[in-house]
Amino acid sequence: MLRLHVESKSFRTAAGGVLPVLGQIDLTLGRREIVALVGPSGCGKTTLLRITGGLDPAFEGTLAWAAGVMPRIGTVFQEPRLLPWRTVWQNLLLAQRSANLKLASDLLRTLDLSGSRDAYPGTLSLGMARRGAIARAFAIEPDLVLLDEPFVSLDPEAARRGQALLLEAWRARPTAALLVTHDRAEAAALADRILLLGGTPTRVLEEVIVAARARRPAGEIS
Ligand code: ADP
Ligand code: MG
Repeated sequence: MLRLHVESKSFRTAAGGVLPVLGQIDLTLGRREIVALVGPSGCGKTTLLRITGGLDPAFEGTLAWAAGVMPRIGTVFQEPRLLPWRTVWQNLLLAQRSANLKLASDLLRTLDLSGSRDAYPGTLSLGMARRGAIARAFAIEPDLVLLDEPFVSLDPEAARRGQALLLEAWRARPTAALLVTHDRAEAAALADRILLLGGTPTRVLEEVIVAARARRPAGEIS
């Protein structure tokens, strides 16, 4: 559904210099494929995610969508970014182009947030807020979901639970998804394919195809 070729990507520094971040990177994403980007902090994962979503056009290279049509994109940033003055339920509905109450309530159920429907984001734990952000991303009926370290700094139990629930939401309505993580176990649990990033400037050091059976089976929620 999309094909990205990055020739290079750099940022201008405050001092007026140039910071090279990404080298040559090719990334393709199938319509129902989950691809994980794994690499050390600062290597350019968020930058690559933003380029893929069309949020940063300032790079050398090309980004092409299937049939030339930009997909609908649901994003889950590292910080959940739910509107604090709206309830969880309102956050979902406000994101939708046309209201789909059934989808919104299905997603809250899948992500185990039905009981927090009318709660304000500030009253939720970080894990719940992250799950709310995932529900909102899927509530817009996206073709592509971008997830930037959606379970970072959660305790292992909350992270595993979030991963399993994310996979359930994806299974109900499979989309293309690009997942940034620095946790290889998380990548293996969720992705069809893992790109290990590294080097200077950053490139793909290794591509790992995850065997289907290695992925967490449906319904396994601890
Ligand atoms: P990661 O997500 O892998 O931690 P990032 O993509 O956030 O890495 O950042 C890659 C590098 O680019 C870092 O050195 C970061 O400081 C730099 N960088 C990111 N965004 C900007 C920006 N808007 N302006 C200048 N430098 C940036
Ligand atoms: Mg990042």
